[in-house]
Amino acid sequence: MLWLTRRLWLLAVCGLVLATAAPASLVRSDFISLRGRMYVDAGKWAERQKLVPRWNSGAGELRLTNRWARLGFKADTARVEFDGTLVWLSAPMTKLAGQPLLPVRDVDHILGPLLNPPRLTGADKVKVIALSAGHGGKDPGNIEGNRKEKDYTLKLALEVERQLKRAGFEVVQVRDRDRYLAPEERPNIANRRKADLYLALHYNGRPTAHGSAQGLETYCLTRANGESTNGGQSRGYMPGNRRDRENLTLAYQLHRSLLGAFNFADRGVRHANFAELRLAEMPAVLIEGGFMDSREDALRIYSDQARGKFATAVVDGVLAYKRLVERGQPE
Ligand SMILES: [Zn+2]
Repeated sequence: MLWLTRRLWLLAVCGLVLATAAPASLVRSDFISLRGRMYVDAGKWAERQKLVPRWNSGAGELRLTNRWARLGFKADTARVEFDGTLVWLSAPMTKLAGQPLLPVRDVDHILGPLLNPPRLTGADKVKVIALSAGHGGKDPGNIEGNRKEKDYTLKLALEVERQLKRAGFEVVQVRDRDRYLAPEERPNIANRRKADLYLALHYNGRPTAHGSAQGLETYCLTRANGESTNGGQSRGYMPGNRRDRENLTLAYQLHRSLLGAFNFADRGVRHANFAELRLAEMPAVLIEGGFMDSREDALRIYSDQARGKFATAVVDGVLAYKRLVERGQPE
């Protein structure tokens, strides 16, 4: 008993030393606590993932590659390019004693599912897709000239529905006409109808009165108590967090498919605490399909032809996701 107590006491002292020692001395360990955040030594993690690291200390650039994947990180940014597609981590890669460190929670929640996509269990299939056309009724969404976001999200949702059905899916149209639905009501409709996926469709507006932006953003739910890409923190574990790995995989596949179809500026797979994503019981994403005031993005938003192509890319992204998560499932 005395031995055990002494051992516990020693462990406690060691823990204290680990927590307070000069950070450089901890680099030999896999996990490093720095400024209140846990990091993992990127080289050691890469080795376990069978990724070959190339670290350019001067430029602060880390590349990890194997036969299947290419990852590119830049020190002091939260950006990772996964096979050329931008995904936002919740915290930047950092350096300690000249060596790169990755945030542990992002390794688990973001890099993990990208490298090892989840699989459905049992006889689960991706069959019923819920589409949620953003805004509606008294809520026009973004307005650009005489164009209202709510009209174009509905046109897109109807076109995606047409093409999904042609590809053999069933569709739950959360909003099929010009009416108002609170953001919290929307996922509940999909939950009641037992949809397998939830896609919210939006277009962006100008971010500030003066500035403008362009490009594609695809959002999945911020993990429990995690940081959102556009600022803010999520509090607690939400129903949507049960699907964190699938959410990320679905967002990545859709984002990648849309980038392949259009020459969009890549604003990345992002994390946000949107009510629609919080309350969905199935894997859920929200697509911001370009900025309504951007000349370049307008070419992808307003014409029937561009909308048809956009919808095809959404269906291709769903099919890519379905193939990944159903691999190994009985036909
Ligand atoms: Zn919107």
